[in-house]
Amino acid sequence: MTIARVAIIGLGLLGGSIGLAIKARGLAIATTGWDRDAGVRERAAERGLVDQVCERAEDAVAGADLVILCVPVGAMAEAARAIAPGLAPHAIISDVGSSKEAVAKALAKALPGACIIPAHPVAGTEQSGPDAGFAALFAGRWCIITPPEDCDPAALDALSDFWTGLGSRVELMDAAHHDLVLAVTSHIPHLIAYTIVGTASDLEDVTQSEVIKYSAGGFRDFTRIAASDPVMWRDVFLTNKGAVLEMLGRFSEDLTALQRAIRSGDGDTLFDLFTRTRAIRRQVIEQGQDDERPDFGREHGE
Ligand code: NAP
Repeated sequence: MTIARVAIIGLGLLGGSIGLAIKARGLAIATTGWDRDAGVRERAAERGLVDQVCERAEDAVAGADLVILCVPVGAMAEAARAIAPGLAPHAIISDVGSSKEAVAKALAKALPGACIIPAHPVAGTEQSGPDAGFAALFAGRWCIITPPEDCDPAALDALSDFWTGLGSRVELMDAAHHDLVLAVTSHIPHLIAYTIVGTASDLEDVTQSEVIKYSAGGFRDFTRIAASDPVMWRDVFLTNKGAVLEMLGRFSEDLTALQRAIRSGDGDTLFDLFTRTRAIRRQVIEQGQDDERPDFGREHGE
């Protein structure tokens, strides 16, 4: 099956980047888009995120071979209901949500009988909205597709080819496993960043200005993650509750062990852990998932 028309619902960072990537890569795909926010629709049209921004959801999806829901995970069901009246019978419905089991259930309930293949491009930034998207967002990044058991193989191939066409590397995964893996690699790190930035700003014996002034000591890198969209992240934690709580339990145990090592002066435990974690950073760079220049490649001048 050929994907010649794509409808993008939600024209923020992810939706905008998909539209721009399709254009930048010269793919023979016509794009339409819709967002519930009139201001976002206007800005999306100004930036040319898609070929045609529609005023109504059902018009955006009419005739589309692939519809991609790019809204917060808590809004997937509402967006699915909005597009339902306009869907072509052959359309593949996919999404970019950061948690997968809950989204798969919400979409199946809202669109019974539709060809639903959830996906999650593991690519993003702390920015959101229609000005945040950029064409290279998916280049070299993984897109995890979580097909249901009864998935149409031709539709799955077409969706995989679509993401490969945007420059992504595609991996197929069971939705529950996706949620567990992403709890460790993304959701818990965000929770830790939100916590440490919140704790620092609540401290009474260290002033706010000192926290900001000396932020380059590590805090600064947490503030980037903790600046991520509050709606998106609220929804991620509410929809991936089980996996996040399981991983948080493991994390708390490890943190307690470190606390004990510090209290008892057990330098070997600290040194061994820090040596292992440094090796993991090296692997992240070797696999092209980050910049090997010091300080994430920030320019420091002379
Ligand atoms: P975003 O920049 O905030 O864009 C989402 C857009 O969807 C907003 O314009 C929002 O409008 C709109 N929207 C909300 N509810 C809607 C509805 N019911 N119908 C139509 N439009 C609606 O967010 P994003 O970063 O692109 O995230 C979108 C999805 O991608 C989320 O599910 C997220 O989990 C996933 N994701 C994000 C990242 C990341 O790093 N940001 C990475 C991978 C995947 P309003 O402003 O009016 O709410």
